[in-house]
Amino acid sequence: MERHEYDVVVIGAGGAGLRAAIEARQQGKRTAIICKSLFGKAHTVMAEGGAAAAMGNVNSDDNWMVHFRDTMRGGKFLNNWRMAELHAKEAPDRVWELEAWGALFDRTKDGKISQRNFGGHEYPRLAHVGDRTGLEMIRTLQQRVVALQQEDFAVHGDYEAYIKVFAECTVTRLLKDDGAISGAFAYWRETGKFIVFDAPAVVLATGGIGKSYVVTSNSWEYTGDGHALALLAGAQLINMEFIQFHPTGMVWPPSVRGILVTESVRGDGGVLRNSLGERFMFNYVPDVFKDKYATSEEEGDRWYTDQANNRRPPELLPRDEVARAINAEVKAGRGSPQGGVFLDVSSRLPAAEIIKRLPSMHHQFKELADVDITKEPMQVGPTCHYIMGGVEVDADTGAASVPGLFAAGEVSGGMHGSNRLGGNSLSDLLVFGRRAGAGASQYVDGLTRRPAVTGVEEAMAEAVAPLERGGGENPYELHHELQRTMNELVGIIRKAGEVGDALDVVEKLKERAHNTASTGGKIYNPGWHLALDLRNMLLVSECVAKAALIREESRGGHTRDDYPGMSPDWRRKLLVCSAPPDGSEVTVVEKEQPSMRDDLITLFDRGELSKYVTEDELAEYDAALA
Ligand code: FAD
Repeated sequence: MERHEYDVVVIGAGGAGLRAAIEARQQGKRTAIICKSLFGKAHTVMAEGGAAAAMGNVNSDDNWMVHFRDTMRGGKFLNNWRMAELHAKEAPDRVWELEAWGALFDRTKDGKISQRNFGGHEYPRLAHVGDRTGLEMIRTLQQRVVALQQEDFAVHGDYEAYIKVFAECTVTRLLKDDGAISGAFAYWRETGKFIVFDAPAVVLATGGIGKSYVVTSNSWEYTGDGHALALLAGAQLINMEFIQFHPTGMVWPPSVRGILVTESVRGDGGVLRNSLGERFMFNYVPDVFKDKYATSEEEGDRWYTDQANNRRPPELLPRDEVARAINAEVKAGRGSPQGGVFLDVSSRLPAAEIIKRLPSMHHQFKELADVDITKEPMQVGPTCHYIMGGVEVDADTGAASVPGLFAAGEVSGGMHGSNRLGGNSLSDLLVFGRRAGAGASQYVDGLTRRPAVTGVEEAMAEAVAPLERGGGENPYELHHELQRTMNELVGIIRKAGEVGDALDVVEKLKERAHNTASTGGKIYNPGWHLALDLRNMLLVSECVAKAALIREESRGGHTRDDYPGMSPDWRRKLLVCSAPPDGSEVTVVEKEQPSMRDDLITLFDRGELSKYVTEDELAEYDAALA
């Protein structure tokens, strides 16, 4: 069997994985980057709006403290506050670093990196490249990997001496020795041949879980692999009940349902209307945000040119609020003909400006829906977009509870609390990708012995099982059933009975998944690949549904019809998922969130804080100020 030895193995080649790998290599570690899809085709490449970083280029009042406050508000104070602090402080440097490595962001008139408005951000904050920011980020990080390989060639005569990419290679198990990580087991998608990575540190950077839902902005490879690999290796997942349904996905035609319509459309002036032509978002501003949002269309419109003297329009509320509002309008019978609402930029900006600012959106609608967004509104509706939940990690190093395991990016949990602000993911990838790469390197430096690779036979037996069964369940059918169940029963609005029903279905699907059979051999066999991915999607769905059933309140990306408000009883509770190595049953326990540091909690106004936190925390606040 093919076998390779590394110091650090990074699973995933999106923004988080590439930044982690660059860091590990810069710290002198022999580093492998493994990715399931083609190198360059990670989800990050699809990111449109930009990376949030309080550089203060467009409004000099912006700084890390304002960004920190916005992030905590967006996450309804369930965020790991240390992560939110590090993120707000370090994001500007990480964006600058990208420019030093060759990225070219759009500019302000005076030549600074331009920043655009986005939901939940008090000031224009998203550094962007038109609506193709993720592409520029990935291009730049890949270029940096190549530059490092050229340095290595000059010294060692081998481009891949210190950093090597294994593309179209899927990891199915993490390997351990005496409780610590010792490597990873994978297969080549093309040949089906197995490959073992012998490494004392693994960084998970595998992205999201969207493919557990039918309507999603996520592409085929987002099957929750990293979440499941961590769980099966003995690590914990937190915040799994919080799923972000982006308010604006395409709703028509059916073949492209769910594809993202970037929030930049609203950031640049686009408005949401129902079938009566009303800008309905004015009716959906929750109490906690009332003093920050415009109360009339005139004020909202003035804000685009004069932010100092006006409040922002409610179309720019955090995503969870906008998604729920659209859902309510459609349910009330005021939706668009294809079951969404109207998003109009055509009456707000000149055609040339739309094409300049939103080239991908213009192209996407023209090609996929035959709609010219410079002339008519788009029809949009909520789509499963992002998971706030993920591997519980140490904020400073990205370390999970299993020695040698690290995680960064969408697969990790905590940073975004119950709801992520747009633009905060791209900056999260850079800040915590770098930290996880550094954390893994330091861990390797501290080892006194290299752990031995064990468990290869078991991993291989698990992987070939669907091919060896003569007959059995069709993995595609199981997948469709899971997607429908999650969409309909654990979607944007949840009820105890329905989530309970979903859990029953997931339980039965897990049983049936033990009996999936894939015809054909190991050579490029997507049916076999899906049979292996199903284990991960089912495990992750079990975590989402179990946590959603337990959390009896509505907060951020978790809305319970039967518990409509935020509850002080749940304010400081995290739900922590774990599972045995065979994944037979997910256990969920409650855990108290640590108190915020005094210098951070006092960044908030007491009046505002009282809308979110408990009496105990307010007492801590008063003590900190005294
Ligand atoms: P990804 O970029 O998702 O990469 C995951 C990597 O892991 C891939 O290389 C994949 O092949 C690999 N992988 C997965 N499983 C395995 C396995 N088993 N074995 C080996 N490799 C594996 N965020 C913003 O901040 N701003 C935006 O403007 C923005 N726009 C977005 C637009 C769209 C359409 C979407 C879908 C998301 C957007 N987001 C945005 C969110 C953001 O893009 C993602 O959260 C982020 O890119 C995730 O990056 P990542 O590095 O964690 O993982």
